[in-house]
Amino acid sequence: MVNSPCCHRDPEWSLEQGPEGPETPIQVVLRVRPMSAAELRRGEQSALHCSGSRTLQVSPPGGGPDVAFRFGAVLDGACTQEDVFRACGVRRLGELALRGFSCTVFTFGQTGSGKTYTLTGPSPQGEGVPVPPSRGGIMQRTFAWLLDRVQHLGTPVTLHASYLEIYNEQVRDLLSLGSPRPLPVRWNKTRGFYVEQLRVVEFGSLGALMELLQMGLSRRRSSAHTLNQASSRSHALLTLYISRQTQMPPVDPGDPAGGKLCFVDLAGSEKVAATGSRGDLMLEANSINRSLLALGHCISLLLDPQRKQSHIPFRDSKLTKLLADSLGGRGVTLMVACVSPSAQCLPETLSTLRYASRAQRVTTRPQAPKSPMAKQPQHLETKILQLQEENHLLRSRLSQMNLKVSGLSGPRVAWAQRNLYGMLQEFMLENERLRKEKSQLQSSWDLARDEQRVLAQQVHELERRLLSACYLHQPGLGPAPPCPCVMVPAPSCHALPPLCSCPCFRLCPLCRAPPAHWACTRRELQLPQVFGSKAPDGMTLSARPPPWAPPCSPGSAKCPRERSHSDWTQTRVLAEMLTEEEVVPSAPPLPVAPPNTSPVLRGGGTVPNLARRLEALRDQIGSSLRRRQNLPPHSEGSRSPS
Ligand code: ADP
Ligand code: MG
Repeated sequence: MVNSPCCHRDPEWSLEQGPEGPETPIQVVLRVRPMSAAELRRGEQSALHCSGSRTLQVSPPGGGPDVAFRFGAVLDGACTQEDVFRACGVRRLGELALRGFSCTVFTFGQTGSGKTYTLTGPSPQGEGVPVPPSRGGIMQRTFAWLLDRVQHLGTPVTLHASYLEIYNEQVRDLLSLGSPRPLPVRWNKTRGFYVEQLRVVEFGSLGALMELLQMGLSRRRSSAHTLNQASSRSHALLTLYISRQTQMPPVDPGDPAGGKLCFVDLAGSEKVAATGSRGDLMLEANSINRSLLALGHCISLLLDPQRKQSHIPFRDSKLTKLLADSLGGRGVTLMVACVSPSAQCLPETLSTLRYASRAQRVTTRPQAPKSPMAKQPQHLETKILQLQEENHLLRSRLSQMNLKVSGLSGPRVAWAQRNLYGMLQEFMLENERLRKEKSQLQSSWDLARDEQRVLAQQVHELERRLLSACYLHQPGLGPAPPCPCVMVPAPSCHALPPLCSCPCFRLCPLCRAPPAHWACTRRELQLPQVFGSKAPDGMTLSARPPPWAPPCSPGSAKCPRERSHSDWTQTRVLAEMLTEEEVVPSAPPLPVAPPNTSPVLRGGGTVPNLARRLEALRDQIGSSLRRRQNLPPHSEGSRSPS
């Protein structure tokens, strides 16, 4: 019998209290449900009574002294759902979850002891009929509290939810879009145990979350048996994933960097004989008992200080896998042990009380996981400090340098103050100077080219005159035939007396213009006969066809290979015979020059060379004219040079 209500007294560990250090024990609160109408009808007596807010006294069935059990809080049948919510300390877990901790609330106890009622209120009265708010359990109240808390946080929070059940050692997704199918439980280093392909739904309002809860509750397996008309046949885990966006970027659901708040409604242990389960119900009961046994075994091992560091068989069941972090890991855990007050249930009640007493000695090492981004500020802070130091050092060095520079004088100051801008200016000036120099050179080059062109023309003119004088100087040649060049419009050079009357001469020996309408009458008169048989260079002149020689037939051996070369040679020989001294050649550059030929001038000569040649030609012409004056006059009809 419950002696006095003790639900209004808060447990000693307060909501504001954080994890108590490296090792934090599992917090356990006890809820004793009221006697049911059926129990009262059957005249069953209560074997329990509260002593203070945290101690439960149990009268053994066979008499004897009461056994006391001490928990974080003891909540009797007079406590309302709201009392339980306020007293159990779930809000503290909510706060820790908001700070990134992984928190778990789970109910534990015999079937029909009020576990589901404590968490979610009475079973739904129909499909889609929600639990009235006044009778809502810890979950609904925590949801409301959490969403209200989130709204007042000032920083955006992303919330997700998943809901699964472990039924006959199979994990089923209660929020799956299709019919639930078994999902595998996996493990990795960062996440620990997790359910693969579990649907995680984002929600933003209390209504949306309530709908998810309702959906899961309606899909969860339950059956009726002797002790409970709506007995849960599975362990159900609803998890809220809390991601505060102070962590940039916000973490994904399931990422250990985010906070978690998990509500676990365990299926109750049951004695098959007591519940009268048969067939599937018995199989379900066996499965439930096996998993609860595995849970109890893990808790026992966790309690043993020597064995705690050794292997804990969390892998023995899906339930222990999914509760591994809550029991022995980094989570913060709250157990709500539920018991029936009926003396008929005393053996299971005592078992639950012993179990819960042991559990509250189990410790975890709560740790708010840090995401890589969460670590970044500290790293950045170190970096900033380093940069600040470096900045300070550089500033001090710079000021020292300025002091040194200000201590210099005269040219050294000028040198020290010369910077890149000064150098650039110097380069620009230099560039400008070079540009001017280049344009001057270009203009003087143009002048020289013009001068060269004029001199070349003068040389050309003098050559013509020289050849003309040479012809007139030879006796017995008779009058020169009219030059064909004068018969056609000709360049200025044709104004001079012609040199040759050979009709075969295809080109004017001076200007190289083709005399198209000219007919030769004195083919036999060839200038080489006039000059003699030997050229000054030792070559037989007759061997060389003169420039005006008739064209050779194709394949002829006498055909000159380089007509222009012969032309040049004839001109030079002629000049040398007239002047009796070596003549500087004035012919154009030839591809194959004879040996000892001086460098050609036209086109490739320099101005001084041309000037010298011009001077030499003037001398030659002068001497030629002087000789001519000493000779007898030509026969009539001969043409004199103009
Ligand atoms: P369990 O989940 O532990 O098997 P339930 O939560 O289903 O047990 O409770 C069994 C029955 O007892 C339900 O009909 C439920 O409404 C009722 N019950 C449990 N706890 C309370 C309570 N504190 N106040 C009123 N009724 C309760
Ligand atoms: Mg239940």
